[in-house]
Formats: sequence, structure tokens, C-alpha cells
Amino acid sequence: MSWEEMSRRDYPCNCGESTYTEVNEMDDWNRYREHVIINCPTCAEKERVARAAREKKQTEDTARLKELLLEIKPYFEEYYMQNWLDYFVSAKNKKAAWTLAKDIGVEHRSLSSFYQSHKGSSVDDYVRSLAKPYNMLKIIDTLNIKDSSFRNKVEKAIDLNNSVHLFGFY
Ligand SMILES: [Zn+2]
Repeated sequence: MSWEEMSRRDYPCNCGESTYTEVNEMDDWNRYREHVIINCPTCAEKERVARAAREKKQTEDTARLKELLLEIKPYFEEYYMQNWLDYFVSAKNKKAAWTLAKDIGVEHRSLSSFYQSHKGSSVDDYVRSLAKPYNMLKIIDTLNIKDSSFRNKVEKAIDLNNSVHLFGFY
């Protein structure tokens, strides 16, 4: 696999004292890539410092998010999981539970893909599985939970996750 240089252009750098070079390359499969060479020592150093700061923040955010998730999950389990399960008590079968979850806004899958992934599990198992960080604010509102410190933690976790993407959103 070899990359062939297609073009190379110099532009003035940010501080105006030197340049950066944009290099465009293509490989045997007609894939295309571009990279930048900073020729200016001042701008290169600025870029290095900025990258180090971004990486540091990313590491700190990830650590903080993991910490929050370790608090949120057992806390919900201990204080609110029973309320959450009770909320689904009128749902006598999985389809009814799915419909209720859909109404609340904590279920985004179609009925068929829901059946597929919860084959063999009970309504309770399903309701428990919905208590995920990204659903937590809707659950707090639905159950009318007045617990601002818990809510703050959930909001902070969602906020952090927007920058580090530890848990997936639908
Ligand atoms: Zn410069």
C-alpha cells in the first residue's frame, strides 16, 4: 500500500511569521488523505500545547464520567428501581411494556427489533434494562423524583458524555 502525493500547497500560518503546508495524497485504491505540516516553530508549539490540553481534559472528563456512572447506577438501584418497576405494573406483557416505554421516550427501537433483543427475558428484566444513564432524566421526570443532587449528577454525566462518548446514545 503506497500513498502518492497529489498536491502540496503552502499557506501563511496563524501568527503570520511562517507557513504551513497542506499535503494531499492518494493510494492505489483511490483513497484520499490530507495532512498538514506546520513549518512555523511558534505555531507548532502552540498546536502541541493545545493538543496536550485537549488530551488532558479528555482523560479527566472520562475519569469523572466513570466515577459518576459508578455512583448513579447503584444509587438508582437502591432508591428508585422499585418505583420504576412499579410504574410498569399495569403492563401485563412485553408489548404493553414496550408501548409504555415508547410513550415515556425511553425506547427508540421498533417493536420487532425490541422482540429480537429481549427474547426470553421477563417484563421486569426489560424495565430494569431501560434504567440507563441516557434515559435517566426522562425516568426522573416520569417518576417525579425530587432529588436535585441525583439529577445534577445525571445531567453532569450526560454533559461529560457529549465530549467523551463513553456511553452510546440512540
Ligand atoms: Zn506561525
